[in-house]
Amino acid sequence: MSRRSTQLSFQPRAKSPNRNRTQSALALIPSSPSLSALRQSAKDCQACDLWKLGTQTVFGEGPVKARVMFVGEQPGDSEDKAGRPFVGPAGKLLDECLIEAGIERSEIYVTNVVKHFKWAAAQRGKRRIHKKPRQSEIEACRPWLEAELRVVRPRVLVCLGASAAQALLGKQFRVTRDRGTLLESDLATHVMATIHPASILRAPDREGREKQRVEFVRDLKKVASLIANEDAA
Ligand code: SF4
Repeated sequence: MSRRSTQLSFQPRAKSPNRNRTQSALALIPSSPSLSALRQSAKDCQACDLWKLGTQTVFGEGPVKARVMFVGEQPGDSEDKAGRPFVGPAGKLLDECLIEAGIERSEIYVTNVVKHFKWAAAQRGKRRIHKKPRQSEIEACRPWLEAELRVVRPRVLVCLGASAAQALLGKQFRVTRDRGTLLESDLATHVMATIHPASILRAPDREGREKQRVEFVRDLKKVASLIANEDAA
């Protein structure tokens, strides 16, 4: 399996002209955080304006000792209502693909770089249309993800989609070019990015969906083999 030797870490926070309007969640992180303390504290987060849009904070979920953490962009409509990550159509597809790859969902930790659902009303009907979070919103929310990483300390970190990959691996990262490549990082022993399962659902036709799904499972199988190698070591 190929491995890129770039040393990666959280990117420096860019100075923003809106900094006085967009706060950081840092002040809300408990001094000795556990997952339950973080989840409780995050419920009241108003560090950016997305708390006004979302129904509730959707914090990460999974075992505290999970060896693998999957990070997506933000909760969707179903997750916003349920208050749990990856429970909507994309989450169900992720579950199916994990099973195909031989990974137990119950053994992984799933979360997002942004913990509130950002949306806009559809022009017709009551649908809530996903909107991409701004960089300032990703930065405001970053302390929650950093804290999750510190508590869970996953051996394998998998970024799902461009927003998560660029938030964690840098703006230069291209999922289309770099997906499936193992990267050296101080975030976890093994770091990899692949597409977000929602992008498979957005493919224009059945053939495109099937192709993307096969490629996604192929990436997940790399994760499965990393876990197997860890077990064998
Ligand atoms: S998106 Fe993140 S930083 Fe913004 S209010 Fe929600 S939890 Fe806080």
